[in-house]
Amino acid sequence: MSSANTVTARVTGVHDDIVSIRMLRDAEGEFYPLTKNEVVLICPKRSETGRSEKLQAEVLRVRHGEADVQVFETTRGVAIGDAVEQTGQMLSVALGPGLLGQVYDGLQNPLELIAGQHGFFLPRGLAVDGIDQQQKWSFQPVLKVGARVKAGDLLGRVPEGKFSHKIMVPFNLRGEAEVSWVQEGTFSVATPVVRLRLDNGEEREISMQQRWPVRVPVNRDLLREGHSRRLFPQQPMLTSIRLIDTFFPVALGGTACIPGPFGAGKTVLQGLISRYSNVDIVVIVACGERAGEVVETITEFPNLPDPRGGTLMDRTVIICNTSSMPVAAREASIYTGITISEYYRQMGYNVLLIADSTSRWAQAMRETSGRLEEIPGEEAFPAYLDSAVRALYERAGMVETNDGSVGSLTLIGTVSPAGGNFEEPVTQSTLRTVKTFLGLSAERAYKRAYPAVDPLISWSRYLDQLEDWFANELSDSWVAQVKRMIELVREGEQVQQMMQVTGEEGVTLDDYLTFQKAQCLDQVYLQQDAFDDVDASTPISRQQELFGLLVRCLDNPPVMEEKEQVREHFVRLSGLFRNLNYSRHDSPDYARYLKEIETLGLTGAG
Ligand code: ADP
Repeated sequence: MSSANTVTARVTGVHDDIVSIRMLRDAEGEFYPLTKNEVVLICPKRSETGRSEKLQAEVLRVRHGEADVQVFETTRGVAIGDAVEQTGQMLSVALGPGLLGQVYDGLQNPLELIAGQHGFFLPRGLAVDGIDQQQKWSFQPVLKVGARVKAGDLLGRVPEGKFSHKIMVPFNLRGEAEVSWVQEGTFSVATPVVRLRLDNGEEREISMQQRWPVRVPVNRDLLREGHSRRLFPQQPMLTSIRLIDTFFPVALGGTACIPGPFGAGKTVLQGLISRYSNVDIVVIVACGERAGEVVETITEFPNLPDPRGGTLMDRTVIICNTSSMPVAAREASIYTGITISEYYRQMGYNVLLIADSTSRWAQAMRETSGRLEEIPGEEAFPAYLDSAVRALYERAGMVETNDGSVGSLTLIGTVSPAGGNFEEPVTQSTLRTVKTFLGLSAERAYKRAYPAVDPLISWSRYLDQLEDWFANELSDSWVAQVKRMIELVREGEQVQQMMQVTGEEGVTLDDYLTFQKAQCLDQVYLQQDAFDDVDASTPISRQQELFGLLVRCLDNPPVMEEKEQVREHFVRLSGLFRNLNYSRHDSPDYARYLKEIETLGLTGAG
């Protein structure tokens, strides 16, 4: 941020992290203009540290000559009369090579760098560049002098780990411009590599990094100008988790919500989805969990091996805030994560953003709204909660970028409803917005039925929306069969409830058969062992084979006359299927179990 800021206001009041300011008048006697979401710096006269501190704050509300700003740090020592400097910038992040592998706080301060110098979190009043300004990158231009370009057009490429990082014309460029100078070579991110001559004759220097305001979608202007366009999601994001891909799919560029009752396996599930999904880049926003949990995330996650080689961290960005950090930074962290995700999507990559948890984000919003004394809605959340949640998830999606490549941003948000009560406002707003709900249940976790996603409460609108994909890639009857199997689970549950009252004798042979089929489906298909090398991940081709076989066995059981016989049959069948799940696809064991299942499952002999 530029150091030549002017003092344009004075502090008139402090209420936790909300500071009221009064604008000063400029040479013409007018109030200095200030806009909502602009960043200002509060400069306390009394500094605790002895160095001069500048506390970042965002303008929330502007009235005639006055404003309320939200400070991203503790406001200890801030006093009436303290100077306020204006930066003229919105809350923004730096975009460029060097983001991958980083762990940031909500304002894009790199935590690892800080940890080395200052302990785990940043001392007040300091800001560190989000992208290392010293590191050198090799820039290969793709355009020559004289080329006409517009916002978002490809200027050149930079190898960033295993990715080709596209350097694009700044997304806020208006109209067209001409490349007037370009250089190839190895430079720091701030070094100009291209000069553009704008239509008004001005020259603009372009480096490998650009800043973008986090509250504005990266592609807003590109979409408006028609340089880039939104597409409907067309295919699933394959996670290799059977229960998700087959039963409750998430689209590439789609949205999903996972509620997380404590201990229900949310962390393990997020780890699995991050590791195995067919996305290029993963962005994790760990928003406001307890400090210990966040430390766990950022120390464990980087070491997870990536099934594609290297470590997962090579293609991950983590944004993390603990509940001990100021609420404003917590609220901002989700936007920082989304903006970075959108940036890589605009290069044509498939990006997955996991926001954990959006409840903490909403609570931060509630606290701020309360301090501003806005009219509260349900449970004191602001009345605009619903639209804020919707606006967040709307930043997910699939886009065709300037050069015709297609990128996606899939957004999975977890919610942590108090006491597992899904009726609370954040969960309800989220459920009205997302297209997949993966309802983790404490009860299933207690029975160790992992992943503890409850098939009776979960749903996915993508099953219908992506029907063509399933029909073309898997089978014509795929979606119908899946729906039939979900129905079977439901029927099995009803019989089970009946049996709890009447005992096994109280239900018919047919009902008992239904119950056993549902159990089998649950045990061998819905449940999946995250800690077994083979079972942890089932590629879609294997799911297709397994599901087909299982449905055939469930649809055509051998003739059985006694419940005892039915029970024994399914115990053996489930055992065989489980063994199959634990066998490598190309192994002799796999072939053998397959054969045994065919024989036992379809004829009863075995
Ligand atoms: P949460 O984050 O919801 O508190 P965790 O993800 O840490 O819960 O899971 C708690 C425990 O449950 C794990 O330590 C593990 O033993 C078990 N578990 C969770 N998910 C699975 C899974 N998919 N497969 C096997 N075990 C699991």
